[in-house]
Amino acid sequence: MFQSIRNIYCIGRNYRAHAEELGNAVPDAPMLFGKPTHSLVAMDGGEVMLPGGRGDIHYEAEVVVRISRAYEPGMKVDELIDAYALGLDLTLRDVQSELKKKGHPWLAAKGFLHSAPITGFRPFPGAAALQAETFTLLKNEVVVQRGNTGSMIFDLQTIIDFTARHFGLGEGDILFTGTPEGVGAASDGDRLELKWGNESWGACTVRLSD
Ligand code: ZN
Repeated sequence: MFQSIRNIYCIGRNYRAHAEELGNAVPDAPMLFGKPTHSLVAMDGGEVMLPGGRGDIHYEAEVVVRISRAYEPGMKVDELIDAYALGLDLTLRDVQSELKKKGHPWLAAKGFLHSAPITGFRPFPGAAALQAETFTLLKNEVVVQRGNTGSMIFDLQTIIDFTARHFGLGEGDILFTGTPEGVGAASDGDRLELKWGNESWGACTVRLSD
């Protein structure tokens, strides 16, 4: 399922209310980080093994877009993106706080094994149509996050142009586009489910290692 995925880019602090809930400043340019492809795991209803004993693991529900061709300046989002999915940018939040204090890179907090559970991809309806629907994350059947791509600080075109210019962008790259407010900790046994509108796109049960 993930064989064709190349680079995984993630946008941090792309929804105002989420930046504020963590006490972070709203950025004046897109803030990017990456995850290894080994972070990917299917939200296919099964269990996802995550590191236990390393502090809180926060869920961040995000829209994920897939790039279908080599980027060239001037290309529009709707020409470049062929599919989208929903995903979780899982974060070892306590580890991240320590890394931030020390000025260290985020990889240990953001790029650990299975830190990127995602649903299957669906055909991309266009950036404008995307805003007509809301995505939600349910934890144990209770909605904990709700977002709409229309609320992103940096829209898809801005993110894509910025990413391409600084890091390169081509076929098989995917982007996690940021999370709305409501992030929180996942515990062993929690059921996490992502929905597009009323439609369930994927779910998993969290298992923390000893
Ligand atoms: Zn995120």
